[in-house]
Amino acid sequence: MQQCGKPIFKVAISIPVYRLFDYLAPDDGALEAIKPGVRVEVPFGNGKKMGYLLEIAPHSEFDLVKLKPIIRVIDSYPLLFDKDLRLLQWAARYYHHPIGVVISTAFPAALRQGKVMLIKPQKCYALTDLGRATTSQQLQRSPKQLRALEKFQSSSVSLTEAELTAWEEGWRPVVKQLIKKQLIQLSLTETSITKAAGLLSKSALSANIQQQAAIDAVCGSLGQFGVFLLDGVTGSGKTEVYLQIILKVLERGQQILVLVPEITLTPQLEDRFRQRFAVDIVLSHSKLTDKQRAVAWLKMQQGQASILLGTRSALFTPLENPGLIILDEEHDASFKQQEGFRFSARDIAVVRGQLLNIPVLLGSATPSLESLHNVNKRRYQLLALPDRAGKAIEPTLHLIDIRNKRMQEGLSAALLEEMHKTLAKQEQVLLFLNRRGFAPTLICHGCGWVARCHRCDANLVIHVDENCLRCHHCAKEQPLLRRCPECKVGELTPLGLGTERVEKVLAKLFPNKVAVRLDRDSTQGKGVLEDYLLQINNGEVDIILGTQMLAKGHHFPNVTLVAILDVDSGLFSIDFHAAEKLAQMIVQVSGRAGRAEKRGKVIMQTRQPEHPLLTTLIQQGYQHFAISALAERQQASLPPFSYQALLRVQATEVDMPSIFFQALTDLIKTLNVRHTQVLGPVSAPMVRRAGLYRYQLLFQNNQRKELQHFLDELVPKLAVLKQAKKVHWTLDVDPVDLY
Ligand code: ADP
Ligand code: ZN
Ligand code: ZN
Repeated sequence: MQQCGKPIFKVAISIPVYRLFDYLAPDDGALEAIKPGVRVEVPFGNGKKMGYLLEIAPHSEFDLVKLKPIIRVIDSYPLLFDKDLRLLQWAARYYHHPIGVVISTAFPAALRQGKVMLIKPQKCYALTDLGRATTSQQLQRSPKQLRALEKFQSSSVSLTEAELTAWEEGWRPVVKQLIKKQLIQLSLTETSITKAAGLLSKSALSANIQQQAAIDAVCGSLGQFGVFLLDGVTGSGKTEVYLQIILKVLERGQQILVLVPEITLTPQLEDRFRQRFAVDIVLSHSKLTDKQRAVAWLKMQQGQASILLGTRSALFTPLENPGLIILDEEHDASFKQQEGFRFSARDIAVVRGQLLNIPVLLGSATPSLESLHNVNKRRYQLLALPDRAGKAIEPTLHLIDIRNKRMQEGLSAALLEEMHKTLAKQEQVLLFLNRRGFAPTLICHGCGWVARCHRCDANLVIHVDENCLRCHHCAKEQPLLRRCPECKVGELTPLGLGTERVEKVLAKLFPNKVAVRLDRDSTQGKGVLEDYLLQINNGEVDIILGTQMLAKGHHFPNVTLVAILDVDSGLFSIDFHAAEKLAQMIVQVSGRAGRAEKRGKVIMQTRQPEHPLLTTLIQQGYQHFAISALAERQQASLPPFSYQALLRVQATEVDMPSIFFQALTDLIKTLNVRHTQVLGPVSAPMVRRAGLYRYQLLFQNNQRKELQHFLDELVPKLAVLKQAKKVHWTLDVDPVDLY
């Protein structure tokens, strides 16, 4: 250990290495200005790299003469606050992921590249003394100016540009006139979150008893840590609860982080926030430009915006004055990052709430088994909204037994009859099929040849509209074949059902009705989905057909019949998570039905009418399903009653992994495994994907701590294992997808 009085700067660099790098102070520059959380440019190898300063320590493990000085300090103040740095360091340890990669995840791409971005201070406008004294008579002849003046007079503080825009799009010329008359002045002061008044642009609904209880519970916990699970059926008024709690947080001058699975799929949510609050609301999701995302990030960091609505990656956005974290649809799998740094935004949100000492509110109509387990363990407080708010009535669920029934492209006669009845009443029908394309298989009627992907162990999917065959695993594409390449004579036949195929039969069976298809293929362009949603809500559409995209958050008030065309395909997965996901999907899709005053009906076509998952859901509802599913997990010692980490291995040659696994097994024998079960290695169900051979090894332990200690020992050794160089391995802690 080297000690010499010189401070050592410990820097995280975004490369797959598990440690920090030591540097000396830059040659110029005042030392006091350099604080953890700033970005720095450092010499690295023969070049230089951007890094993040995490710690300033009195000593280094390395020889001081070998250390180089920092080249340049990029930021004049830390971009990440102390607690954010601690959170990220915790996450790197927990997920056993390289610290530099984890830290860089917190930054938007533009800042990751080392750009310096300044955001303009917000302009505010306030009354002058003259403006305060002006009466309505004096402005009688210019009603627009009078309205604006009254807006200022009714709010006791200054108004930001964002607030004015929320109040009235065309405020600028009017305010300009008022400035000319010296009734209003420009001030560059307050940020929007330091003010308590004028937050609402539209008043809240009056909450029902259950909503009020939920609001009171969370508001009673503002300023301290606590996790709440808001469990309410679709349409029960969860969003309204969020909005009313948010108002209380805004009144405290604090910021709110709202995470949702996919904003682009739910433009309605953003609208509701904007309509309700006259504060600066920023967004963060993948459809925005790098610059837009960086501005949103900086505005939250500097306290210029009050509410951030974002997806998973927005979780780490620094908050100048944090008050509340909300995670809507907390059960949704998209909160778990499935590549690179495989974190669970839900789990880290809870840790973040604890570090920041603020409440965390999780909401769902179909809470995850993990969260329900945490309620049972009294770690989370349950807030239930058992009834639909307003006048909406809950839909009823039914099965249609399709065994031995004649089907027209996946539609049974009983379903068609229900559709006709519904359409005759001018109500809408929603058909759900979780498979894109025309058909999942192209087979030769003459010789049995099947169109396969050359890079994956998978069939190519037929896409008739685009006239191609496409692999849904590696996106490889080829033109649609007309003749069998094997026997040259056999007729090629599509096998199975996709949304495109159903769309075509709908056009035939319902020639006078308008059907739209909503899936990833049909909603590619910008604004396309929004247009479709608008058409649906304007009543221009009779039948809505789509994939899981439909299960998320949309409001279709005139849909009174929902049909799940092929529920059986979800019943037989080998992953123990599948039952939970299927039940959630069924309930979420059902939630689209009958949100207005009309009662909705949900139909599932099945060849398994006695399957316990379906019968439990139908007769007793999601809560009972969850209770029995949790009991099964406990019996089998599966999560959340145990803890798992999955080591995934990929290689370009089929036999490479066996050498690696042998070395790994030898390595594990030298470690203290602390009751960790090592299951496998086994090949992934789809061994070859995008040209790579895939295998996996599962670690399981009944104690989270023991599993963590085992991984603490394993990962550093694994990282330097000679035999690991020829394969690509990744570790997934708390995996939600085992295959
Ligand atoms: P969720 O988020 O649980 O799906 P929402 O908050 O979107 O539920 O509410 C569903 C519908 O019920 C919305 O149209 C909303 O305006 C209405 N609603 C919610 N709370 C109330 C209430 N207290 N009184 C009247 N209508 C309400
Ligand atoms: Zn053939
Ligand atoms: Zn493929």
